[in-house]
Amino acid sequence: MQGLKERPTEVWLGSERIRDVTAHPALRRGARSIAHLYDMQHAPSLRDEMTYVSPTSGERVGRSFITPRSLDDLQQRSRMMMHWARYSGGMIGRAPDYLNVSLMAMAAAADFFTQNDPRFADNVRNYYTYVRERDLCLTHTLVNPQANRALTASGHPSAEIAARIVRETDSGVVIRGARILATLGPLSDEIMVFPSTVLKAAADAAPFAFAFAIPCDTPGLKFICREGFDYGHSRFDHPLGSRFEEMDAVMIFDDVLVPWERVFLKADAFLCNQLFAATNAVVHMMHQVVVKNVAKAEFLLGVACLIVDAIGSGEFPHVHEKIAECIVNLELMKACLRAGEADAAIDRWGAMCPARPPLDVARNVFPKMYARMVEILQLLSSSGLMMIPPQTAFDSPIGPDLERYLVVANLNARERVKLFRLAWDIACSAFGGRQVLYERFFFGDPVRMASALYGIYDKQSLMDRVRQFLAREEED
Ligand SMILES: Cc1cc2nc3c(=O)[nH]c(=O)nc-3n(C[C@H](O)[C@H](O)[C@H](O)COP(=O)(O)OP(=O)(O)OC[C@H]3O[C@@H](n4cnc5c(N)ncnc54)[C@H](O)[C@@H]3O)c2cc1C
Repeated sequence: MQGLKERPTEVWLGSERIRDVTAHPALRRGARSIAHLYDMQHAPSLRDEMTYVSPTSGERVGRSFITPRSLDDLQQRSRMMMHWARYSGGMIGRAPDYLNVSLMAMAAAADFFTQNDPRFADNVRNYYTYVRERDLCLTHTLVNPQANRALTASGHPSAEIAARIVRETDSGVVIRGARILATLGPLSDEIMVFPSTVLKAAADAAPFAFAFAIPCDTPGLKFICREGFDYGHSRFDHPLGSRFEEMDAVMIFDDVLVPWERVFLKADAFLCNQLFAATNAVVHMMHQVVVKNVAKAEFLLGVACLIVDAIGSGEFPHVHEKIAECIVNLELMKACLRAGEADAAIDRWGAMCPARPPLDVARNVFPKMYARMVEILQLLSSSGLMMIPPQTAFDSPIGPDLERYLVVANLNARERVKLFRLAWDIACSAFGGRQVLYERFFFGDPVRMASALYGIYDKQSLMDRVRQFLAREEED
């Protein structure tokens, strides 16, 4: 919090430049929740699970930075990530572990960057150590803004809009243009500006091909926030929006100087396109995401069951079917997580990497599951999602009416409204709508995620088996 206070990052919300995100009504409670995640690492009861001893300083550092060398390392990381995910019921999608595991994977695979320039491997290793030792909070931006997708479909970035290298100097590269969409950006210490994986491997793509990281208060860098979803309401009224606003921001680079020691890739579209898969960063990120999916599915199932219990609808077969669908979703996520860990193997960089297929299946299917579980909450709750007067109404002259007429089978009126306001914040509010959109897109366009799964999946052995089956038919 102190770091954010002292850092003059250029954050804009509407027409206002926010000077202190830890004090601003739209962001301060979200900042406090992120600070809480860090504090959890220091709680005596969690410290051993959530931290490990740094191999360089001997200090305790966050376990999400560990380079896993064994299955036990991976499972310990998983437990650490689950503590963070359960704190928000999975609603802080961009808890810092998401990018910590990505940076770890890139540092473990630092030789990959040598192919572009031998200095870049050291840059990545040094940056990883720098971030780990300070437990810095990272945001990232990968994608060029929508301008003309007819051009980007063929691999051309939108040339006058997309962030690009405009010149090189003795000190570094100079970046101009825009990127989307830095979730947690205004609450972060540093930003990783990494390649989107859709660049055409041709000379005109070179200025758009880069990977680097810089402090969020680097001169010329602007964070332009969407509308805030923390309206300053009480926790009773707005149980999620009042706590877990992680904010998303468009990034503008106004001739931003990136020092050479922070450049990881430059002018090589081929390597940029390979980066996430070749270093296995994408698999470690999937690991974090599936842990979050488990926590989020648990949370929605818990809310759905409480609603059924509250209004006494637990006898209806279609209610069983809907709850069973949520159970299936949760158990499938847990199975994918367990399979990803059980089939983990040491990768070519010497790190223990979860198996990609089960985690990739989970990231492909969860966007649909999540939207459906939100729909199930609406279907189970119906008008209950609108019978949610604010907390203040209970202490007003109509309070006795509310206490009398808003009771349900198994809860008094206040308890009922408190529960249904939570369901509303998941299923109806702007905060809830953004969560659905987040799940649909944060890991990339679902259509292209499916193409990635198509690309990596070993189909050959299955095709061979069917060919053998066809051949055998004639012998039988
Ligand atoms: C809430 C939220 C948070 C996010 N946080 C981050 C973040 O922290 N960091 C970050 O870098 N990004 C973030 N993103 C951005 C995310 O990575 C992108 O939304 C995602 O990659 C899709 O890109 P796009 O939004 O530009 O959509 P587009 O690529 O423009 O897609 C729009 C539509 O056009 C179709 N389409 C476009 N081009 C093609 C094509 N070539 N082939 C097939 N179909 C195509 C898509 O299928 C889709 O239906 C976030 C997004 C959201 C919604």
